[in-house]
Amino acid sequence: MSIVDEIKSRLDIVEFIGGYVPLQKAGRNYKGLCPFHTEKTPSFIVFPESDRWHCFGACSTGGDIFTFVMRQENMEFPQALRFLAERAGVELRPLDSAALERQDEVDRLRAANAAAAQYYHRMLMDDPQGEAARRYLTERGVTRETMSAFQLGYAPDEWHALEQYLERVGIASRDVLAAGLTTEGEDGNVYDRFRGRLMFPIRDPQGYVVGFGGRVLDEDSLPKYLNSPQTALFDKSSVVYGIDLARHSIRESGTAIVVEGYMDVVIPHQCGVTNTVACLGTALTESQIGMLKHIT
Ligand SMILES: [Zn+2]
Repeated sequence: MSIVDEIKSRLDIVEFIGGYVPLQKAGRNYKGLCPFHTEKTPSFIVFPESDRWHCFGACSTGGDIFTFVMRQENMEFPQALRFLAERAGVELRPLDSAALERQDEVDRLRAANAAAAQYYHRMLMDDPQGEAARRYLTERGVTRETMSAFQLGYAPDEWHALEQYLERVGIASRDVLAAGLTTEGEDGNVYDRFRGRLMFPIRDPQGYVVGFGGRVLDEDSLPKYLNSPQTALFDKSSVVYGIDLARHSIRESGTAIVVEGYMDVVIPHQCGVTNTVACLGTALTESQIGMLKHIT
């Protein structure tokens, strides 16, 4: 767990922000008057489920407990980190500030990816729009348990569905773009990168979603597979699909079965061959081999 995650896990965001802003429960969330602009009707929301906040009023911005402290206390990230570490009773290891800033970006992109994976998964499992994707998987013998284990998902065939959802749960639009979940057209318009696709979240060995692969549901659309672009988290040549679920069985057996694509991993895992992973390309790269060696 990163130091930022550790601090977040020890602090209750509702209690913490509630120390600055009187908050009232509103459904699953909490709301209050925005501390960053003047208003009479509360448009400042705290989301305990995602540990985030968002002002839907004049600020139209949001973030996590760190960005809250940075704005509220007028601090840069390293200062906010020291401030929150003390509040959380977490001891800081000596890290230089460049590493801290990079860690901050990594955490924000992880939060964006995690929220997107949850959204896509819910669309697949329960939403009428996910029907074709559910049928595609069911026809290939994939059970609901397996869909959940891999957190498979469906990206609706819309331009702004994910973008709007992530805004509602307090993920900053620049982080959504930096995570490659949206893309910017030549005209400057920002829209969902993945549309009308079956979604495979790609995780690192620790289980963090670093990127996505999206497959079309009809055989005519191109590209058949679309991956996240290169981001601070995602480098296609160094990810190994399924590594988070396969690592224990790879370690126990001392063997990894390396296949090419997403479905080549999902089906064997369902059949109990849980040391299967995919290189997502035709050749294994040096860094993929390095990751597998590190585990075995
Ligand atoms: Zn505001």
